[in-house]
Amino acid sequence: MNSVKIAEMDWVSYRDRVKHGRCKIVMPVGAIEQHGPHMSLNPDVLIPEHIACRVAERSGNMLVAPPIAYGYKSQVKSGGGNFFPGTTCVSGRSLEEYAYDVILAFMEHGNREFIVINGHYENSMFLVEAADRAVKHARLAGIELKVVLLSYWDFISEATVGKVFPEGFSGWAVEHGGVLETSIMLKIHPELVDMSRAVDIPPAEFPPYDVFPPDPSWVPESGTLSSPSKATAEKGEWILDECIEKIAKTFS
Ligand code: ZN
Ligand code: MN
Repeated sequence: MNSVKIAEMDWVSYRDRVKHGRCKIVMPVGAIEQHGPHMSLNPDVLIPEHIACRVAERSGNMLVAPPIAYGYKSQVKSGGGNFFPGTTCVSGRSLEEYAYDVILAFMEHGNREFIVINGHYENSMFLVEAADRAVKHARLAGIELKVVLLSYWDFISEATVGKVFPEGFSGWAVEHGGVLETSIMLKIHPELVDMSRAVDIPPAEFPPYDVFPPDPSWVPESGTLSSPSKATAEKGEWILDECIEKIAKTFS
């Protein structure tokens, strides 16, 4: 039993790994959200979990928590919106409380350092709140916690963006279900991608405001915000290599 995944360990081995508080807990957080007709609902979960496991294997001093699969509500301009069948999201307060509770539960086992790897843009500020409140709560009990919060795409350099998008980059905002996520999924879970169903569309354009209730006519029918058709497993490998390398180096 040599897994870096906590859920695959027995409790005695886990206890012995973490009891001195020097092991870092890597927590993937994602979402269940449509990513077009060509891909499964869970890239936002599987991608940060994959990165977390590779980073932990390199470090030798990290363990990976079971991912939080449900994320905050998909927004029209970043995830296509919350009205697609299959997109299954929770409120901001549920996500915040859930992440907060999970951090404090791991703290009870002796853990003091956390790296939260986010795979769904909309989660960001609720995870900030969870981390901030967990640190303050621990401090009142005389315990110093450190929580690193990151979204994996922030580790992708301009050089890699240039390689992945040789015809020009339309920006991260419209990458939902596009070349970035599809390429990574082709690399790590090709069985969950069917490129014959990929819809080739120009990048979505949105007005500079949001409206509630959200208007489905703003979103391309396929649910992706740009075209996945130029995605390849090789591009996915370039992106992953860079993210894993940089995250491992920064936090080991
Ligand atoms: Zn996504
Ligand atoms: Mn998402």
